[in-house]
Amino acid sequence: MFFVIASNNENKIKEIKKIYPNYDFKSLKDLNIVDEAQEDGKTFKENAIKKALYIAKKYNVNAIADDSGLCCLGLNKRPGVYSARFAKDHDDLANNNKLIKEIKNVKNKKAYYEASIAICLANGKIYTKSKKCYGYIMLSPKGNNGFGYDPYFYIPKLKKTMAELTIEEKNLISHRAKALKSLKRIFKKVEKIDNR
Ligand code: IMP
Repeated sequence: MFFVIASNNENKIKEIKKIYPNYDFKSLKDLNIVDEAQEDGKTFKENAIKKALYIAKKYNVNAIADDSGLCCLGLNKRPGVYSARFAKDHDDLANNNKLIKEIKNVKNKKAYYEASIAICLANGKIYTKSKKCYGYIMLSPKGNNGFGYDPYFYIPKLKKTMAELTIEEKNLISHRAKALKSLKRIFKKVEKIDNR
């Protein structure tokens, strides 16, 4: 079963491929696709649909997209949909520095990651799921795995930051993994249609 992952985020792509290793996922880079939808939605779900639908329609393929981010309760759920460009576009260091600068004087350090996954089929059908993963923001980073805000995102249940987890461990608890796994029935359905 062939799917285009409408993303250029290598880490997200790796996490998605690990969860469904038997499906043929190709990234935009694999297919030399350089154009992408504008991420100007107000919600993760809206942006995920925009990204997957753009690729599905333009290239007549089945496409999947993730839109995700960090929501801090003490910062009115910011950075939220602006997570990738909180300080500077896809600059993890600048974004993390801004996060810590803002949250260090805030008492409530509870936060969650949210991911919306959209599957847009070449036949026009759209499926979406959104899931969260709860934790706290730590003021100093720990761990070298993952990406984005992971070194600062502490999971009390595991007594580790997200960046201290292996990709397999992250895929047991993460927002993205939970949303992807909850779409298993849809993947199976597409597989059946493909094999007809
Ligand atoms: P997107 O690629 O526009 O969906 O941006 C997602 C942004 O949210 C990333 O650049 C990260 O800053 C943040 N983010 C989303 N998921 C994760 C995660 O699993 N770990 C760390 N940061 C994440």
